[in-house]
Amino acid sequence: MKKDHNQNIRRIGLKLITTVLFLVGFLIGIVLNPTLLYAKKTTFGNYTIFHNSQLDKNFIYRLEQSKALLQKSELYDANFKLEICLNDGSLYPKLLENIVGQAFGLGFYNKIVLMGKVNWKDNFTELNGYKFNLSQLLAHEAVHCLQFNKFGLWKSNPMANYPTWKWEGYPEYVARRKTDSNLQKSITRKINQENFQENGWAISFEDRTITPSVYYDAWLLMQYCLDVKKMTYKNLLKDTTSQQNTNAQMMKWFVTQKISTEE
Ligand SMILES: [Zn+2]
Repeated sequence: MKKDHNQNIRRIGLKLITTVLFLVGFLIGIVLNPTLLYAKKTTFGNYTIFHNSQLDKNFIYRLEQSKALLQKSELYDANFKLEICLNDGSLYPKLLENIVGQAFGLGFYNKIVLMGKVNWKDNFTELNGYKFNLSQLLAHEAVHCLQFNKFGLWKSNPMANYPTWKWEGYPEYVARRKTDSNLQKSITRKINQENFQENGWAISFEDRTITPSVYYDAWLLMQYCLDVKKMTYKNLLKDTTSQQNTNAQMMKWFVTQKISTEE
């Protein structure tokens, strides 16, 4: 009698594990195959776009802008094929939001997922009333895919566990390089806004878009390491200088720059 009871429990447990594994596998299958949840698929060169509505006429222009930013990155790979999943009616972005939480966008494996409300003409995407520059977001998320393409699953975050400033600073560096390349000006913007506490958690740009302060700080440090210290991104990932020490070095540099421009 007791033996039968234990066998039953074991059988039920096994069934439960099989069901959970099946569901997790099913979910991964959908996440890796967005085509299952989209009505339309359009290809431009190395980009495959998954969408439900007709593509906006400004779409290609924004894509070209982001591509021009990417081409300057040391991680750029002309043969790398990317997929872009739009937030225009498919359940796919909602599904990912349920897994990872709210975000303007996501970049993983070879996929860029837009999760906010996009305005292709005015070049921004909106989430909870905050705007993020759209072509820069496309570039930022694509850099995450390039990181994965270059370093592989185990040497990329979250597996590799690199500090946020190193993992998020680089996509911001690539995305903002063209419009905002003056590091002194960018540090001054941060100091000014922190004094007035405009948004608290975010820093605003002149085009009325924002980036979270954590990303902004990461971007400044990345630009300091790559442009002033002349490190490569690959070497920076291996370097052991702490965020705090890098920040101290950068601020020391900032003060000397300020003095020399004031003289
Ligand atoms: Zn990111």
